[in-house]
Amino acid sequence: VHRWVNYESMLKECLVGRMAVKPIAAPKGITFHVLTASYDLLLLTYFLTVGQPVPFRLLMTLLSIPCSLGNTSCDWFQTDSLITVVIYTKQKDVNAELVTVDCQDRRLRGEIIMEDHSYLVEVDLDHAVQEDLAVNIAEKVGKVEIILKKKDNIHWKMLGKPLESHNTFIKRMDRGLFYRKCKLASKTEVTHDTKLFCLMLPKSTHLHVPTGQHVYLKQIIAGREVVKPYTPVLPFLPLNFKEPSCHGGAHIYLMIKIYSCGLFTQALDHLQIGDYISLSNPEGNFKKSQVQTSEELFLLAAGTGFTPMVKLLNFALTEVSCLRTVKLIFFNKTEDDVLWRNQLEQLALKDERFEVQFILSQPTKDWVGKQGKISSSLLFEFVKRSRKDSKVLICICGPTPFTEQGVQYLKDLGYSQEEIHTFIA
Ligand code: FAD
Ligand code: NAD
Repeated sequence: VHRWVNYESMLKECLVGRMAVKPIAAPKGITFHVLTASYDLLLLTYFLTVGQPVPFRLLMTLLSIPCSLGNTSCDWFQTDSLITVVIYTKQKDVNAELVTVDCQDRRLRGEIIMEDHSYLVEVDLDHAVQEDLAVNIAEKVGKVEIILKKKDNIHWKMLGKPLESHNTFIKRMDRGLFYRKCKLASKTEVTHDTKLFCLMLPKSTHLHVPTGQHVYLKQIIAGREVVKPYTPVLPFLPLNFKEPSCHGGAHIYLMIKIYSCGLFTQALDHLQIGDYISLSNPEGNFKKSQVQTSEELFLLAAGTGFTPMVKLLNFALTEVSCLRTVKLIFFNKTEDDVLWRNQLEQLALKDERFEVQFILSQPTKDWVGKQGKISSSLLFEFVKRSRKDSKVLICICGPTPFTEQGVQYLKDLGYSQEEIHTFIA
């Protein structure tokens, strides 16, 4: 129909085949433009080949490829002393928890999480930079600035050499874990077998672990790499607590039970203050919005399954104004196993919305509180809507059989899948 629609002028640019899942490195700024242009070309090619407009359902499929693909871009500029890498996500509400930046041995890696996708900047820098970096985020416009300090005040001709995954936007789960070495800053006893490990992030790392998410620790044990997940907590529980700022090396607190025959935890327990251990980027599918829309929050924790509840409690009680009740039902074997009992009891005194119930499965005869394991009757007694139409969220974490049984009992009691969140790997 149109003179200019021919092989030479347009169609020879097309690639034929399925869209690859694996990202393909492309020179700066190219990837997304080609992909956006391909929409038009795809529709056109279909029309030319089939002789009919694209059917509605096929059009919808094509358009469902994330549109942000065409939006995120990256640029850089310099002054005498600084290098600034700017990422324009063109997304609202990009916050510090969604941005992880590392700069090790001249290699800059910046990852931005956008819903269930990850955008990556990964470059071998042209020249050396100083250890500390800064990250500025303009939340409303979704602009992220990574500010590096030049080691020598020379003019850079280029930012550096892009790596294979540079400037790619892929499903978050398809992006491999990235580790940085953290220094063990302190180790304090919480109970007879559980310790609070404080790890110091390098100055060249910007990393915040969002509420409800976990990280992976990696160690070489007997010549083999061993990786286990752990959920960061806060150093203590008081209200109005704000996480320390990231400047000058942030700290990550992990509450870890040492098992007498545990492969990983035994090795961890043998680390000395000042030793290093590798820690990954955060992972997990918990969304804070689940809490923000709730009026009643029930937390069912067993043993170290308490760890995700720590940040969740802090978030719920300090930032969610529509919550009327927050109830923790904490299952342990004995009184000696209860983590932060004192702090939990103090929190209950301090905030009338918060209530805690301890349930022991192997109590001594002096225990006057509730006993038993998770059961339908215990949940019937403790997990009750205060009003018929209350918006409820129930979070569960503990040994797998505990979580599985808990979910089943809750469903039997009439709670829907949307009202239950399970913390699992
Ligand atoms: P292993 O060598 O795997 O096990 C050796 C022995 O220890 C077992 O035979 C058993 O007797 C005992 N044991 C080990 N693991 C368990 C278990 N899971 N349940 C009961 N007995 C066990 N743990 C924490 O302490 N703090 C956390 O914040 C934390 N967060 C986690 C987050 C996620 C998403 C997941 C999936 C797990 C989390 N864990 C946490 C558990 C942690 O990942 C390890 O499973 C645990 O530290 C044991 O590792 P290990 O190598 O020492 O034990
Ligand atoms: P534990 O063995 O001391 O048991 C604590 C309580 O859990 C018991 O008192 C009992 O009430 C309940 N329980 C244990 N086994 C049960 C079973 N088979 N059926 C029903 N109830 C049972 O617990 P622990 O050693 O502290 O283990 C905590 C568990 O939580 C670990 O399996 C760990 O992997 C898991 N965890 C998961 C996450 C996560 O997925 N995000 C985070 C932290 C911990």
